[in-house]
Amino acid sequence: MTTTSEAPHYAMRGHRVHALNPTDIDFIAGRICKIFKLSKQTFSASNIGLFINDLEENGVFIDSIADEEWMMEDIARAMVDPQKGFIYMPEWTYEKLNRGDPEAIRIFLHELGHIFLCHRAMLHFSDTKGVLEEDSEWQADEFADCVIRKLRLKPQSPQLEFKYF
Ligand SMILES: [Zn+2]
Repeated sequence: MTTTSEAPHYAMRGHRVHALNPTDIDFIAGRICKIFKLSKQTFSASNIGLFINDLEENGVFIDSIADEEWMMEDIARAMVDPQKGFIYMPEWTYEKLNRGDPEAIRIFLHELGHIFLCHRAMLHFSDTKGVLEEDSEWQADEFADCVIRKLRLKPQSPQLEFKYF
């Protein structure tokens, strides 16, 4: 129980970025769904390859890394370089994505969130405490959940909480 009126300190999971509230993120997710003409069928095993091609034509690339070269299984399920537009994932996750697996789709949408929300580390330090809405990881999760909700995709099993960056 907290007895002070001060908000509890928020521990950032990711980089501190420009704050976006759920309404902003929902709007951006909606624009992306429209631009790429996304629907529930887009994420089926037979169609996801078309979306991946479409992304590549728009400068977003997925690099699947051989499982034995993916040294980060304890740290990350996927990685992203938002400035370069590159998403890196181990082959087994990439294969799951291509089978339309809900967990792999959410990981993929999370990484796309980092790209479409234009995440980059802030270059200056601030003496004010960070808040949830400035956390790049929270924003990317929120983006993924917005798309999943809008397109009525099958959610991943809630008991599985994996780390991905
Ligand atoms: Zn992330």
